[in-house]
Amino acid sequence: MERTFAIIKPDAVERNVTGKVIAMIEEGGFKIVGMKKILLSKSQVEGFYYVHKERPFFGDLCAFMSRGPVITLVLEKENAIADWRTLMGATNPANAAEGTIRKSLGVSIEENTVHGSDSPESASFEIPYFFNQLELV
Ligand code: ADP
Ligand code: MG
Repeated sequence: MERTFAIIKPDAVERNVTGKVIAMIEEGGFKIVGMKKILLSKSQVEGFYYVHKERPFFGDLCAFMSRGPVITLVLEKENAIADWRTLMGATNPANAAEGTIRKSLGVSIEENTVHGSDSPESASFEIPYFFNQLELV
C-alpha cells in the first residue's frame, strides 16, 4: 500500500464540484485516509510549493491557491502516487486525457482543479505538511 497527497484546489471548491472530484477518487479505488477543508495563507502556499519558487508563475500560483478554501486529502492504494497522477491528467487541462479529472473539470493550466504528489519524496514532504499521524485513519 502506498499513500499520496492530493488537494482539491480553490477553483473546484468555488464551483461546487468537490463532490464530483471525491466521487472520481473513490471510483478510482483510492481509500481516503485523511481529509480536511482549510484556507491557506500565502506564506503556507509558498512553503508548500517551494520547489517552484523560481518559476515565472509562482506568484500567480500562490495567489490562486490562497484565494479561497481547498480540500486536502491523503489517498491510499497500491501504486497510489502514479495512479493519482494518471487520474488527475496532464497539468494543462487542454492536454489531459479523456476521463481524467483535469479534462472533465479543469479550467486552465493554472486553475486545474487538483494537485498530486509527483514522487515518493514529494509525498513524504507533502503529507506531514498538512496532516499529523492521528488524522490518518
Ligand atoms: P502539476 O500540478 O501537474 O504537478 P507543476 O508541478 O508543474 O504541475 O505545477 C504546479 C502548479 O502550478 C500546476 O498544477 C498549476 O496550477 C500551476 N502551473 C503550472 N504550470 C503553469 C503555467 N505555465 N502557468 C500558470 N500556472 C502553472
Ligand atoms: Mg507538481
